[in-house]
Amino acid sequence: MKREAMFYEKANDKIHCFLCPHHCVIEDKHYGKCNVRMHDSGTLYTLNYGEVTASSLDPIEKKPLHYYRPGTNIFSVGSFGCNMTCTFCQNHDISQEKAPSDYIPKEVLVDLILNIEENIGVAFTYNEPTIWYEYMYDTAKLLKEKDKDASVVMVTNGFIGEEPLRKILPYVDAMNIDLKSFNSNYYKNLCGARLDPVLKTIEIAAKECHVEITTLLVSEENASIQEVKEIAQFIQGIDKKIPLHLSRYFPRYKMDHPATDIGFMLDAKEVALKYLDNVVLGNVGV
Ligand code: SF4
Repeated sequence: MKREAMFYEKANDKIHCFLCPHHCVIEDKHYGKCNVRMHDSGTLYTLNYGEVTASSLDPIEKKPLHYYRPGTNIFSVGSFGCNMTCTFCQNHDISQEKAPSDYIPKEVLVDLILNIEENIGVAFTYNEPTIWYEYMYDTAKLLKEKDKDASVVMVTNGFIGEEPLRKILPYVDAMNIDLKSFNSNYYKNLCGARLDPVLKTIEIAAKECHVEITTLLVSEENASIQEVKEIAQFIQGIDKKIPLHLSRYFPRYKMDHPATDIGFMLDAKEVALKYLDNVVLGNVGV
């Protein structure tokens, strides 16, 4: 559904969007980098408001969140679009394309969330929730008004502006934030984004809600002990209790490097545990 977007201002005959750090300057009838925000005659619109492409009741551990209400289930929803262009994206069919979707008004979604048995709340996931901001914000706020104990979770790449982040944090209980690399060139060349804003998101969010971090270790790219050490040291500098998920890469989308070596994954966990209390391996089958 098309709806006026938040976080933009007019700049002469263009629009400046500051929802995410791309800070797109968009000409009339053009889209921002995320392809879901469009300038139409002096107004910025979001095109995916309430548009749901995927939903499922998932174990919270699948988000992955291993230390927030473990053993529970959470209703997970996603839309389409992303503000990154990762060459190894496992959800590229909804993140990089306008996938088929159903419009679900926020009131309907909140009723659904509250009426599913053994569900603790809602997780905004699958595609990047930052660029689903308006719907996520409205839904989270309404859900908390109806049940302050319901959980709101974001599974995000962390590439969000500081103002929108601070505005939604009061309604968010937990976040899993991707820290894809500790290398600016990796972010630039493989993800079409930047490292520094993600580090800032982690620092801000960790003060306001439960945070866990995920790093996908990609063979021939960021699968190095030095990089794992730098990531673990950065997290330790915030709070050594923040859990780090080290996830094993498999070839997908445009990336055809071989799957990351299992032995390396085990070594990476050992290194990270020198700095952090909780390190979890993902996609390793052990
Ligand atoms: S959300 Fe980010 S990518 Fe999308 S238009 Fe706004 S600044 Fe650009």
